[in-house]
Amino acid sequence: MSRKNLIAGNWKKNANHLETIQMVQKLSYRLDIADYARIDVVVCPPFTALRSAQTVIEADRLSLKLGAQNVDPHESGAFTGEISPHMLAKLNVQFVIVGHSERRQLFGETDDDVNAKLKAVLAANMTPILCVGETGDERDAGDAESRVTAQVSAGLDGVDPDSVGSLVIAYEPIWAIGTGKTATADDAGTMCGLVRSTVAESVSGSAAEFVRVLYGGSVNPGNIASLMAKRDIDGGLVGGASLDPDTFASVIRYWV
Ligand code: PEP
Repeated sequence: MSRKNLIAGNWKKNANHLETIQMVQKLSYRLDIADYARIDVVVCPPFTALRSAQTVIEADRLSLKLGAQNVDPHESGAFTGEISPHMLAKLNVQFVIVGHSERRQLFGETDDDVNAKLKAVLAANMTPILCVGETGDERDAGDAESRVTAQVSAGLDGVDPDSVGSLVIAYEPIWAIGTGKTATADDAGTMCGLVRSTVAESVSGSAAEFVRVLYGGSVNPGNIASLMAKRDIDGGLVGGASLDPDTFASVIRYWV
C-alpha cells in the first residue's frame, strides 16, 4: 500500500507572528501546487503565531497544513497558561506534535501525559504526531529498541484501534536532535520499522500498514534522499532546517 509522505517543520520557540507570515509566504513561493500531490507539508509555528499562519494560508489558498507543537488535554477550565485541543482546532490546526523529547525532558512529560494528549487531539478531530526516541545513553546501553517500543505502546494505550492508522509517529533519536548528528539511514530505517511492527503487535496489522512513520533528527537537504530511500520511513520531522524557507524547500523538493 502507498502512504502519502509527510514533512513537518517544528519551529520550536522561534518566529514571532510577523516572522511567521514571512516564513510561510517564502516557503509557499518556493513550492508548486503540484508538489503537494506527492507530500503533505506541515508547518508548526509557536502558539502565538498560529492565527497569523492560518490567515496567510487561507487568504492565499495555500496547500500548506498547520500544526501545533503541544497541547493541554483538558477541554477548558482552570489551567492557567494552557491551550486546549478545541482552541487549536478552531484555528484549522490539523496536526499536533505530542511527546516531543524536549517536552519530555525539559517539562517532565510522562508517557501517561503523552497518551492523554494524543487521545485529546484525536477527540478534537486533529492528527497527533507522536514523538518517540531514545537518548544517547540508552542507545549505548543497547536499550534503544525497548525504549522506543515502550513509548509507542504507552502512547497508543487505550486508543481506538480504528484511529491508529491515521496517526503519524515520529522516531526521533534524542542524540540526533539539533546536534547535526543523524542516525545512519540503515539505523533510522530499522527503528522506523520497529515502530511499525510495534503498532502491528499492539494494535493491528492494518493500522501498521496505514500509520505514517517519520524520521527526525538533523534532517537536511544533504541527507534526506538516503533517509527516505528506506521503506518504513514516510517523511520527516524537521527542526533547525525548517527555519530557513530556502533550506526547508530544498528538503521538500526531494519529493518533486
Ligand atoms: C526536532 O526538534 O524535532 C528535530 C528533529 O530537530 P532538528 O531537525 O533540529 O534535529
